Amino acid sequence: AIQVRGLHKHYGRHEVLQGIDFQVDAGQVVCVIGPSGSGKSTLLRCVNRLEEPTSGEILIEGIDICDRRTDLDDIRSRIGMVFQQFNLFPHLSVLKNLTLAQRNVRRRSKDEAVEIARQTLAKVGLSDKESAYPAHLSGGQQQRVAIARALSMNPDMMLFDEPTSALDPELVGDVLAVMKELAQEGMTMMVVTHEMGFAREVGDHLVFMDGGVVVEEGRPADVLSHPQHERTQSFLSKVL
Ligand code: ATP
Ligand code: MG
Repeated sequence: AIQVRGLHKHYGRHEVLQGIDFQVDAGQVVCVIGPSGSGKSTLLRCVNRLEEPTSGEILIEGIDICDRRTDLDDIRSRIGMVFQQFNLFPHLSVLKNLTLAQRNVRRRSKDEAVEIARQTLAKVGLSDKESAYPAHLSGGQQQRVAIARALSMNPDMMLFDEPTSALDPELVGDVLAVMKELAQEGMTMMVVTHEMGFAREVGDHLVFMDGGVVVEEGRPADVLSHPQHERTQSFLSKVL
C-alpha cells in the first residue's frame, strides 16, 4: 500500500504540491487525472523519492521512505515505474533490457533472469521480439517491453505516468489491455492518465488534481459522471 500524508513540494518559491493526502490500498488501482502542471508527475515521483518532498509523509507498506534509516534502494526495487517515454536501453536487445536489473539488483543467475524475462515477455504478448532492439519496435511494443521490464523485477506495486500519451492512437489499446490484465491479477497500481475510459473501467478510485491539491476524488464513475466541483466539471468538459 501507498500512503501519502500532508505532502508538500516546493521548487524555489513555487509550491507544486500543497498538502496532498493520497492512498493506494493493496490490490487497488488509483487513477490520477488533472490539467498539465497540476503536479501529477511530481506526486508520482515523490512516491519513490525520485523527487525529494519538502514536507509530509510517504509510507510504502508502512515504511516511511523519508526516514534516513530506510533502505531506499530496497524500497525502489519493489516499485515498478513506467513513464510516458519508454526509457529502454537503446543499445540492448529486448531480452537484455529485461535481464539487466534482475541480475544487477535482484542478483539472479543468468538462466533465472532469462526465464523470468521470457515469462514476462509472453505476458505482454512479445515473445517473438526478444532479440529485437528497441528502435525496431513500435511505440506500443516498446511500452509493453518497458512494462515487462518493470514486472520482471517482481514489484509489489506499479506506478504509471501517462504510459500511453506518447503513442499513436491505434497502439494505445494494446498497452491498456496489458495494464488491465495486471490490475485484474491484483497488482497495486497508481496510474496518471488521460484515458478516462480506462479510469472508469479499471480504476477503483479516481483522484482529480489541480494546482497542487486534490480537488475531488471518489469512485471513477461518480467523479466522471457527476463531478461535484466546478474545476472538475470544467476539466472534464474539455477532455471527455
Ligand atoms: P503534465 O500533465 O503536463 O505532465 P503534471 O501534472 O505532471 O503535468 P508536474 O510535472 O508535476 O505536472 O509539474 C507541476 C509543476 O511543477 C509545473 O508547474 C512544473 O513547471 C513544475 N516543475 C516540475 N518539475 C520541476 C523542476 N524540476 N523544477 C522546477 N519546477 C518544476
Ligand atoms: Mg506529468
